[in-house]
Amino acid sequence: MYEAKKFDSIKELNGISERTMTEHYKLYEGYVKKFNEIWEKLDGGEVDLGAANQIYSEMRGLKVEMTFALSGIKNHEVYFGHLGGSGGEPKGKLADQIKKDMGSFQEWKDYFKATGMAGRGWAWLVWDRDMGRLYDIIGDTQNTYVNWNSVPLVALDVYEHAYFIDYGTKRADYIEAFFNNLNWDVIEKNFEQAVE
Ligand code: FE
Repeated sequence: MYEAKKFDSIKELNGISERTMTEHYKLYEGYVKKFNEIWEKLDGGEVDLGAANQIYSEMRGLKVEMTFALSGIKNHEVYFGHLGGSGGEPKGKLADQIKKDMGSFQEWKDYFKATGMAGRGWAWLVWDRDMGRLYDIIGDTQNTYVNWNSVPLVALDVYEHAYFIDYGTKRADYIEAFFNNLNWDVIEKNFEQAVE
């Protein structure tokens, strides 16, 4: 069973309201609840394995939605985990890697903002262990376009629930607020772990 984690960022942030953060956290708890429900069904031996079918079957439904629920958990843990900081820029090894792979922090930031504007659900900065480099990807849902053996370091939620209360349709302003609240110490630590 998965247990919902607690995050210090669930409070009023700089440009993101307490209401947005607390409502958003409830969605995360919902993913945890549903993941556990799906997991129990799959684990409980009740699913008719002989009826598995690619068009529709209980097996297919549970397997597909399990990844939706689990990605909902994992993405939000990166998101809540690296908010609550004071923005700015990364230092050390991550700063060097961003320069190497993206040119400069500002160039990456502009590119990542555009990635966030182009996505329907998420934008991620990932460390790809096979390629040994950073790059940005889009997720139209929490479980789409994710590549194996890569670690999400920055996870930008661009679903409307992340910003509509505070910004209405002004997604770009929300993305700026997101950057202003990033905790680069957390991201740097995750990067160093991912590189090991
Ligand atoms: Fe979300």
